[in-house]
Amino acid sequence: IYILGIESSCDDTAAAIIHNGKKLSNVVANQQIHKEYGGVVPELASRAHQQNIVPVVQQAIAKANIDKKQLSAIAFTRGPGLMGSLLVGTSFAKSLSLGLGIPLIEVNHMQAHILAHFIDEEGYSQPNFPFLAMTISGGHTQIVKVNDHFDMEVIGETIDDAVGEAYDKSGKILGLPYPAGPFIDKLAQKGNPKAFPFPKPQVKGLDFSFSGLKTAILYFVQKNEKENPNFIKENLEDICASIQHTIVNILMDKLKKASKKTGIKEIAIGGGVSANSGIRKALMEGEKKYGWTAYIPKFEYTTDNAAMIAIVGYLKYLNDDFADHDIAANARVKI
Ligand code: ATP
Ligand code: FE
Repeated sequence: IYILGIESSCDDTAAAIIHNGKKLSNVVANQQIHKEYGGVVPELASRAHQQNIVPVVQQAIAKANIDKKQLSAIAFTRGPGLMGSLLVGTSFAKSLSLGLGIPLIEVNHMQAHILAHFIDEEGYSQPNFPFLAMTISGGHTQIVKVNDHFDMEVIGETIDDAVGEAYDKSGKILGLPYPAGPFIDKLAQKGNPKAFPFPKPQVKGLDFSFSGLKTAILYFVQKNEKENPNFIKENLEDICASIQHTIVNILMDKLKKASKKTGIKEIAIGGGVSANSGIRKALMEGEKKYGWTAYIPKFEYTTDNAAMIAIVGYLKYLNDDFADHDIAANARVKI
């Protein structure tokens, strides 16, 4: 079974081929245009998707070394995401499925960030049900109880900003390029995580909050720059390490709580921020400290990609779970 996956929910145009659960190709076209604006500009994103989608799909098929006639089905991201971006992938997937006379499969982007763990990869094992998945990305921060591939319950989520957003907005304050997450991560590894204590929000239960941290960092920087205009420059590594330390602590606190509450020790992470070295390290330590089995995705499956869309397509194909052609993109679809 050959599945073509198409992802266009935000600012990456991606296509991938999965063959019986194994990745044959995984192509991503990053949109550089947004860097100039310090964030994703929706109108520009959908235009870039329109330019990229045909070559990206062609490349995915060519790299997989198959002919498009061999495809069994086409899986596409229905949502959540930016409407204009989703429309490009959705309409392309629909017309290609009509043209080739093969079924269409709708995929929830946030489920895909979790189910990426089911791509058959050498050296990576797949979580056992039930497991807890913490999805940490540019638009979401959730703890999900995964009872089965398509039986998921969100048991905790952010009440304001997503963790990726916290990284990107903090980075903006520090003058780092967009998206700032990877830059903060890199600089953090050379700094002192205890240099500047930032407050941890008090949020009930398993929910998160990140908007206060961003404000705390803004005031902290403004105050110190008044006394020393070079404050950021001179302390960048320590500031980044302190931000990362605070964020990782917030995430780990809730994850520990969720594991305790549910009694589940199979713990997975997914989404762009799961590329972060601090959270990866903390999760590995959790194996020793709390008896967890931790599942950390391969880097290429952390930020947006289409292999994760295609694997969901494969799992749905096995369940005969196909979409009708009148299906519409949905910017706010839930897990
Ligand atoms: P969503 O999946 O919620 O719709 P998205 O698709 O835009 O949002 P992803 O592509 O999954 O988000 O993740 C992008 C985010 O990951 C960005 O905020 C980016 O800064 C962050 N990120 C990527 N690498 C790292 C890293 N090493 N450390 C911290 N953050 C990172
Ligand atoms: Fe994503």
